[in-house]
Amino acid sequence: MAAPSTPPPAPKSVFDLTLDDWIGWADYHGHPKFRAKQIVQWLYEKRVSSFDEMTNLSQDLRARLADAFEFTLLPHVRVTGSTDTTQKFLFRLHDGRLIETVRIPANANFHGDRSNRITLCVSSQVGCAYDCKFCASGLAGFTRNLTVAEIVGQVLSVEKESGEPIRNIVFMGMGEPLANLTNLTKALEILNSDWGINIGARHMTVSTSGLAPQIEKLAKIPMQVRLAISLHGATDEVRNQIMPVNQRYNLNRLFEAIQTWQDHKKQMITFEYILIEGINDSLEQAEVLAKRAKSLHAKVNLIPYNTVEGLPWKRPDEAQQEAFVNFLTNAGISATLRREKGHDIEAACGQLRLQEETAEGIIERSTPEVKRSISNSR
Ligand code: SF4
Repeated sequence: MAAPSTPPPAPKSVFDLTLDDWIGWADYHGHPKFRAKQIVQWLYEKRVSSFDEMTNLSQDLRARLADAFEFTLLPHVRVTGSTDTTQKFLFRLHDGRLIETVRIPANANFHGDRSNRITLCVSSQVGCAYDCKFCASGLAGFTRNLTVAEIVGQVLSVEKESGEPIRNIVFMGMGEPLANLTNLTKALEILNSDWGINIGARHMTVSTSGLAPQIEKLAKIPMQVRLAISLHGATDEVRNQIMPVNQRYNLNRLFEAIQTWQDHKKQMITFEYILIEGINDSLEQAEVLAKRAKSLHAKVNLIPYNTVEGLPWKRPDEAQQEAFVNFLTNAGISATLRREKGHDIEAACGQLRLQEETAEGIIERSTPEVKRSISNSR
């Protein structure tokens, strides 16, 4: 029999539904609204792992649920690191695809966060279509969006494995979260709601390559999630070399969207900026960046590029890194420069999945691209 050309659709999971969805489902099947509340309480407060454990629901309702929904957490293929260090989880999805999730302990100082909370770096797609020139996730192209359950499931599975609650989430794993806006928005609701996982909206950061229309849509949802922009260039000429998406939404269009964000959210955003020697590390770029950051109420997170043998880009020397960050701080911008040698957190973007897939012979990559993937991420 010939292999199907497209993978089977994901089975409907209990973790795909918001409370409103459950109310609608219960109503359709002739059950009162409070049944929906009981179901989400079993799922997110009591964290049961089967319908049989939902003992205040009738046998009939439990059987109906079992007919309609899957009830499995994401199975992980591999976990590296320990609970005291950055831990990487590789999950296999129902169609055999792999995604990664990175658990960052409080002492890893992610983006200067001193809140003493564990952060989870979550994936939103399998692969990515945007091909940022420093990032692993776009190497094999875009495969598909993650479902709501696959996004929420990363949090539930890691919490179950580690036994500790996640209190910070960054959408900086594989994929462009705003290209999967419908599922992202539902997942954010489940993650944030007091009937769900109950993570504060201000402790969830959505990082984007700069999809302007989607930034404007996300700005209008009534939730104070945070926004990070993978900027990496302060002028179109420079950013075009690093971020192909800039040819679709140039900086003027992007900044217009950020202004809409600020009009709605009135909060500080973050510009992520990988420093690359001779490409975007000049003080002229710093000057333009400082003006942009000031007018858009943004802080700047500088990440020195990891030099890769065989590729032309290089990491600027420390003096240039210091000059760049000092220029920004002297201009009154809140800016941090990642100085530590370890690159655990950067490894979040695509690296782990690529290693696994290559080991399994699923994809083969030329040496420079693999090297690029292992060294840099957003
Ligand atoms: S940085 Fe983000 S948008 Fe760009 S290729 Fe990587 S995952 Fe995609």
